[in-house]
Amino acid sequence: MNADRRMFLAATKADRRTFLKLGIAATASAALAPFPAYGQGANPRVVIIGGGFGGASCARALRQADPRIAVTLVEPNATFTACPFSNEVIVGLRELSAQQFTYDRVVADGITVARTTATAVDGPGRSVTLADGGRLPFDRLVLSPGIDFRWGAIPGYDEAASAVMPHAWRAGDQTLLLRRQLEAMPDGGLVVISAPANPFRCPPGPYERASLIAYYLKAKKPHSKLLVLDAKDAFSKQRLFQAAWAELYPGLLEWVPLSKGGNVTSVDPATKTLVTDFGRHQAAVANVIPPQKAGRIAEAAGVADRSGWCPIDPVTFESKLVPGIHVIGDAAIAGAMPKSAFAANSQAKTCAAAVATLLAGGTPSSPKLINTCYSLVAPDYGISVAGVYVPSGGQLADVPNSGGVSPSDAPRPTRAAEATLAAAWFRTITGEVFG
Ligand SMILES: Cc1cc2nc3c(=O)[nH]c(=O)nc-3n(C[C@H](O)[C@H](O)[C@H](O)COP(=O)(O)OP(=O)(O)OC[C@H]3O[C@@H](n4cnc5c(N)ncnc54)[C@H](O)[C@@H]3O)c2cc1C
Repeated sequence: MNADRRMFLAATKADRRTFLKLGIAATASAALAPFPAYGQGANPRVVIIGGGFGGASCARALRQADPRIAVTLVEPNATFTACPFSNEVIVGLRELSAQQFTYDRVVADGITVARTTATAVDGPGRSVTLADGGRLPFDRLVLSPGIDFRWGAIPGYDEAASAVMPHAWRAGDQTLLLRRQLEAMPDGGLVVISAPANPFRCPPGPYERASLIAYYLKAKKPHSKLLVLDAKDAFSKQRLFQAAWAELYPGLLEWVPLSKGGNVTSVDPATKTLVTDFGRHQAAVANVIPPQKAGRIAEAAGVADRSGWCPIDPVTFESKLVPGIHVIGDAAIAGAMPKSAFAANSQAKTCAAAVATLLAGGTPSSPKLINTCYSLVAPDYGISVAGVYVPSGGQLADVPNSGGVSPSDAPRPTRAAEATLAAAWFRTITGEVFG
């Protein structure tokens, strides 16, 4: 049995927190070479765009790697609002304030936070233009801008429509809007979730959301129905989700795959109607999770390809399109790695180590990255998927036999233990990134 498999099995048997710590250790130590002096020149400057899970993690890891690097984090919001666990907020199990974090600790680490939006990047000229008119020169730039939505990809679904049919796929006002709509809905109403085709932020997220909305309806509005219209035929942790739905929410939650007419071809916000090739569904509450792409600054920087996402070198996360710019988190094309906060944090540490090594004139060594995604099917019912990834053939590839999903025949106490571990994971990662 190889070391990765042993590591994963130890974690599933005993404590996934151990796995999380191992993951952090594995990624944090990757590729760091001893630092030579920078000589008489000015200290190197790294600019990071986006203060979310990827960007804030990378900023702090860089300062830890070498405090001589001048790190500037560009982020317009004073408070970061986290998406993991926002599905709990939607159904009233948690308040939005529990999702919110300031940048006080980031600043205390000696990182300059520029409270503005980056509007343009001059890759060859090595500078970033800011919305406030300022310019930031850099030796290396890291982009972690998360996602943007492909407004109009579903005809009728533009930004204005999201005020009526919320996506709630960036946490904040949209999360609260969907919550209020569910609360205001009469018992007996139809709730519809539209799930996008791959790739998109948080592959298990729509199905965790469906589960928790079903939990809410079962308790508060039992004559209601939940329909999940899906633009694909398969999804993350599908067997586990479907077995749990059959057990917990029979007759309440219906999943309609692509091949059975799940693809939403247009919407009408005025009547909250979702149209598919097979019919029309008028919803009391419609949650449309639209197709996505890398945050728009990626396109402006020239690092997004025709897919809308950013091809990267899997060792350094340097763009394959523009040298000197690294892309991490949801915006990157990270091969087999899913778009998750855990993955963004793993990538951030690998990227920080590589950037520090490159700035010191060294050669980054090949990393090993880890991801675990927990999902709640009910507040005391958790399931998870985990994986280990290494560079292979210019991409990040799964290490065979190194990951896996929760056992399909686990007893309820095991599911409850996974729900507890999910909460522990969220505390650990937000503590590490923002605490
Ligand atoms: C409902 C839901 C549930 C989820 N649950 C989980 C989970 O359980 N576990 C998990 O691991 N992941 C989960 N995720 C996924 C996770 O939230 C994302 O994968 C993660 O946030 C990606 O990190 P990021 O750094 O790429 O982007 P983000 O965390 O979104 O950060 C991007 C930041 O960039 C800033 N920004 C964007 N453009 C600019 C610009 N031009 N200038 C300056 N700043 C800019 C934004 O303001 C933002 O702060 C979930 C997502 C959703 C929607």
